[in-house]
Amino acid sequence: MLPRAREVWLEANEKFFGNASSPHRIGARADRALSEAREKLGAFLGCNPEDIVWTSGATESNNAVFHHFVSSARAGAEIWTSSIEHPSVLAPARKNFAERHCFIPTTHEGVIDLEWIKRQLPHERPQLIALMAVNNETGVLQPWREVLELCRESDIRFVCDAVQWIGKLPAKGLGDCDFVSGSAHKFGGPKGVGFLKCSSRHPLRAMICGGPQEEGRRAGTENVPGVLSMIAALENREAALMNGEKKAKMEGRERFEQKMLKLLPGSEIVGEGSQRLWNTVSALMPETDCQQRWVVKLDKLGFAVSTGSACSSGQEKPSHVLTAMGYDSAESSRVLRFSSGWETTESDWEALIEALVRAYQEISQREAASPEILAHQNQFARSGPSG
Ligand code: PLP
Repeated sequence: MLPRAREVWLEANEKFFGNASSPHRIGARADRALSEAREKLGAFLGCNPEDIVWTSGATESNNAVFHHFVSSARAGAEIWTSSIEHPSVLAPARKNFAERHCFIPTTHEGVIDLEWIKRQLPHERPQLIALMAVNNETGVLQPWREVLELCRESDIRFVCDAVQWIGKLPAKGLGDCDFVSGSAHKFGGPKGVGFLKCSSRHPLRAMICGGPQEEGRRAGTENVPGVLSMIAALENREAALMNGEKKAKMEGRERFEQKMLKLLPGSEIVGEGSQRLWNTVSALMPETDCQQRWVVKLDKLGFAVSTGSACSSGQEKPSHVLTAMGYDSAESSRVLRFSSGWETTESDWEALIEALVRAYQEISQREAASPEILAHQNQFARSGPSG
């Protein structure tokens, strides 16, 4: 959590402990704080404050969208989602729409096939199209603005899971989408709080019932400290983006990738040719007998990395994102994902390179390292991680 977000959370527990729905002054104070937070988020996204519903996070927000549409969809209408959406979109889409849920294909570079949509739309009109702003596994940016435009032309509702975009790229313009989901813990806020932007012109059919909160769109006492802390985190991130911090982050990531490709023969960046977020690197590691060893070795060296597999009911399955991009299961099992943060420095990236090289040598049990690795290690020994 960002220090400022933590501070605001603690303060809010003292200052705004009232229930925002209560009629007394303490409750009204909390309600006013929530209204101010709505104004701020509306300004960042570019939408009416009344369009915002506070939720427990993006999983809830995404579920709420499909719950809303299943009862309002035209009989027999299809819905389209990209094949690389987060499970919190794919599962409710499948649950609510079953065989009426169609997938937009993805290219090997990890971007959805925009041409496919353009070819299909003259013949079919889905009830909604859902496309994430940035993929969470590859960091590849998706053409959500172009798809929003196509939806507008054909009077189709557009749903954007913007969890990975918000706080890392400017939020402005997202408010034009019919539905947008966001989650505080992805940009330095607390866990268990998020939002759904939904147009107040088309009232949301509540998924969680049993109270009048959020204009009847989401029942349950609002998490005032969580919301205020989330907005403080977003203010902080948006200010950093205005100060151009993104450029330096991007350069750090690119230098890391170039070094990795040079020092680990056989490694490959997933979605290398696409525009990608500055904080995510998804890469195929060199082939070795047991890929899980990378995770264990890197963990011991102080790096928590993710793999290209999803663990479901104890069984490792290739990630649906990599499968949609055309990677086979052997290739998917070689994938590691590295995520950096705002605090990540050049020497952190350098230390990760050192750890990867060390893990690689141990895994492949190479007596003699490649000349590139030896040269790199000599330089590292002379100048330290930031050299
Ligand atoms: N959507 C995307 C793209 C995500 O990356 C995540 C979380 O990782 C979610 C949705 C779910 O968000 P939450 O953890 O707030 O439920």
